[in-house]
Formats: sequence, structure tokens, C-alpha cells
Amino acid sequence: MRYELMLPHQIRKAIAENWPVVLPLGVLEYHGEHMAVGMDTLAVIKTLELFEKERDVVILPPFYYGAASYAVAPPEGSGSLQVGGKALAPFGEELFYSLLRIGFRNIHAIIHHQTENFAAGMPTDLAFKTAGRQAIFRFLEKERGEGWWGSEAMADYYAEHAEGSNFFNWVQVHPLMSAAMKYPFDHAGIGETSLMMALCPEAVDAAHFGDNKNWYTASAKDASVEFGKKGVAMILDHLRTILGR
Ligand SMILES: [Zn+2]
Repeated sequence: MRYELMLPHQIRKAIAENWPVVLPLGVLEYHGEHMAVGMDTLAVIKTLELFEKERDVVILPPFYYGAASYAVAPPEGSGSLQVGGKALAPFGEELFYSLLRIGFRNIHAIIHHQTENFAAGMPTDLAFKTAGRQAIFRFLEKERGEGWWGSEAMADYYAEHAEGSNFFNWVQVHPLMSAAMKYPFDHAGIGETSLMMALCPEAVDAAHFGDNKNWYTASAKDASVEFGKKGVAMILDHLRTILGR
């Protein structure tokens, strides 16, 4: 369900049943002359909308204003929009803290932008990872008081941690495509362009393939809906793995 359309009784049901609550996280960035600047975020939103057809999930209003950087293109006339990680982390902390206050304990942010080296991290995902950790510590200290972790009630912390139940799983940040996925990771090339053709055809204009001059868009003209659908199927498998109850 889209969060902004939920009634309070539906929100209480989602909390009671521990539905995953997902923030589509992304950027607005130049993706060649043939593709829309929202590609990275649209890929997350559109695959979540497909996932929602088969599973209970709360989809938060997307956050597009991440750290695109100007690595691909300077902003003038290209459309790349850059908000640095230093500004994102405080916003993310307030957002996650507020979601914890509402009662959600199964919160996820999913990002596609710059996630080819996700373990090491990039500014947008690192900012939101930091935000999640900060929000959890702040929430627990407010709810349980300082010294909560050292108290007797926590004596089985490490055993529970080994079983996978852990406060620090309350907020998680994931890449849209797992490292194991056999689908090309690129920027505005055949991989991303095919995904958009399958998920959001209005975000690609084949009439502008010929206007591309950059190395990273050279393969875009070979994109197809059929290839994109293969990537979408792999992403849906990945979402089924990471978005459990
Ligand atoms: Zn992209």
C-alpha cells in the first residue's frame, strides 16, 4: 500500500503484522540524451509496485533528492541534482526516528544509484545507513533509558543476535540489484535503458539515441523491453529475499 493513502487502522494492521515499510531512495541525474533523469529512483518505485501485487508492503513516498554527484555531468543543462550526504543524514535520521515512533520495526530503504560497490558504500546510501543507526540508538535511549544495552534484560543479546533478531535490523539499506545478479550494471547503457523500457517506457525516447556522445551510453541503442524484463524478474527475486516479515 502507498503510505500516503493508508488509514490509521491499516497502519496499525501493518505494524501488528510487521509488514516491510520501504523508502524508494534515489537521485535525479543525467542519464544520456535518451533517458529521464529520474531513472535510478523510478527503477526502485516501479519494481516495488510490481512486488506489491504479490506481497504486503508499505511503500513510502519516494525520496529523489540524494547525492547524484557531478561525476557523470556538470549540472548546467544536464539536470543532475546534487544534495550532499552531510545534508541527507540528518534528514534520514528524523525520517527513520519518526517511523520508529509510529511503530514500524521492519523499515527498508532501497537504492539503485551508485550501488555497484555497495558494501563499501557511496554518499547517499552511507548517509541513510548512518541515519538508520542514529535513529535506532536515539529511539532505544528514549524508550528504555541510557544503559539499556547493559541492563539484565539484555543478557541474551548475543544469542538473539546470532538468530538474526536484532534492533539494528529495524532499519536497513539495500541495493536494488544484488551483487550476485547476472544483469549488467551500467549507467544509462543497455542495462538501465532496458530496465526503463520494461518498467517505465515514457522515461526513454529512442529518437534521441543518436544524440548520445558519451562512452557510457554507447550500448543504450541495443536496449530492449525483453532484456529489461529479465532484469526486472531478477530484481523481484531479490526483493522477495530482502523484504520478509
Ligand atoms: Zn542510473
